Amino acid sequence: NPPQIDLKKYIRSIPDYPKKGILFYDISTLLRNADAWQIAAARMANGVAKWNPDLVAGIESRGFVSASPLASALGCGMIMIRKPGKLPGKTISLNYDLEYGQNCLHIQEDAVKPGQRVVVVDDLLATGGTLQASIELLRKVGAEVVGAAALIELKGLKGREKIDVPLHSVIIYK
Ligand code: 5GP
Repeated sequence: NPPQIDLKKYIRSIPDYPKKGILFYDISTLLRNADAWQIAAARMANGVAKWNPDLVAGIESRGFVSASPLASALGCGMIMIRKPGKLPGKTISLNYDLEYGQNCLHIQEDAVKPGQRVVVVDDLLATGGTLQASIELLRKVGAEVVGAAALIELKGLKGREKIDVPLHSVIIYK
């Protein structure tokens, strides 16, 4: 088992980013510490292994960073959920509402073989809009979404209630 270290020490919170009034949790300071990052990735893998995924899906861009070591640790393939105009070939898209405005995510239509078990990964769960949109997008291309994972969960925003698969989070803030 990974050693008992408090990973919160490695997350930096930055006030008024990207807009005034928002407290942004910056994972850069976790990523740049070799031990802390290795332990965070191992804790994510430990929580997700029980779902036996075939594929790990990362959400652009910090979700890619979070998903890659997970795919490696579990021996899974990795697929990408991306912003418009970034994926070659035929894609399927989904628009969803953010707190302010809208967002759009794409996936390659052949990213998943029918019934493949997929865990979807992002760096941070806030309201859950991004993860739930990604879950729906994965289902549109035939995935069986067996779980979700995030490095950070902002519990007070109740994102966990918005997503309809089990979630494993590594670091939890009220
Ligand atoms: P949600 O859709 O759950 O409301 O917001 C989560 C999305 O916004 C994730 O893709 C995440 O990367 C981004 N996000 C929102 N707030 C933060 C934050 O404080 N720190 C980081 N690293 N990402 C955030």
